[in-house]
Amino acid sequence: MTQVHDHGGGVRSVEVPIPDNPLGHTLVYVVDTDRGPVLIDTGWDDPASWDTLAEGLTACGTSVADVHGVVITHHHPDHHGLSGRVREVSGAWVAMHAADIAIVRRTRETRPGRWYAYMAHKLTAAGAPEAHVAPLRADRPRRALPGLAPALPDREIVPGELLDLPGRRLRAVWTPGHTPGHVCLHLEERHPAGLTGRGRLFSGDHLLPRITPHIGLYEDPDDATVTDPLGDYLDSLERVGRLDPAEVLPAHQHAFADAPSRVRELLAHHEERLDGLLTLLAAPLTPWQLAELMEWNRPWDQIPYGSRNIAVSEAEAHLRRLVKLGRAEAVTGSEPVTYVAV
Ligand SMILES: [Zn+2]
Ligand SMILES: [Zn+2]
Repeated sequence: MTQVHDHGGGVRSVEVPIPDNPLGHTLVYVVDTDRGPVLIDTGWDDPASWDTLAEGLTACGTSVADVHGVVITHHHPDHHGLSGRVREVSGAWVAMHAADIAIVRRTRETRPGRWYAYMAHKLTAAGAPEAHVAPLRADRPRRALPGLAPALPDREIVPGELLDLPGRRLRAVWTPGHTPGHVCLHLEERHPAGLTGRGRLFSGDHLLPRITPHIGLYEDPDDATVTDPLGDYLDSLERVGRLDPAEVLPAHQHAFADAPSRVRELLAHHEERLDGLLTLLAAPLTPWQLAELMEWNRPWDQIPYGSRNIAVSEAEAHLRRLVKLGRAEAVTGSEPVTYVAV
């Protein structure tokens, strides 16, 4: 049974399933315009997800063929996966922020072998044990990873500009952190039920009611810039808090009101987590060792291989933030590099 919610004021959402994922589904928003519906995100590229999206649009009184445009909050496959198919059927434009378009382009052009070599190098530098890194170096046919041929968007989302939604006012707000080109979309219209606040905010993965998004490094084999994704994320959180939307329409879980208090909660959570890490960094640790000691949703020895890589990336993002704040530093001459609280 396809789940469709009517949020009022010409906005509905379809729960598009993500196969084998505890998150369950992506909320694909269907925004009515004078030229046909515009989708915010499209969902995972899987036959069952595609059928659900198509049925959902039918339940909304429209169809995939009628879609006028697709606005993507960020490049992740649970958001951008079906964009190519929607465009094929409808001729709709697909828009994304330039920083995430660059990732899509690179993903399409980088050979899997280069990715594995890059990952192996990075993990070794982060202090991963040889047993963890060895499979990446093995010379064998590579399993195709999901989302390796994402659709190349044909329009760029320019922060601060109104998007092409005839009859509506939807403005892009750049919210880097979860990805470098993540955007939230601000529907600058009165709330249909009269909730106080300024319009409604499609928040993608940036602001969710009950979970915090993954903040890791922006992986790019061709770019050695030392970025600070956690710093970007915290700044972006404050930005959407100041917008003070009447309601938040996130890409997972459920809609909620009072964005500023959710923002405060998340800022406090991250502050607390950084303090906790400083306690762990009383003695020098590699990023890998820090990840082993950090708190996850299950004990480290039960975390699957791929998720450990994500965890180390998250540990490194936190170390970057602490270094940038002057609260931790790299130990000179350590190899692999260790960090210690100052
Ligand atoms: Zn995401
Ligand atoms: Zn997501």
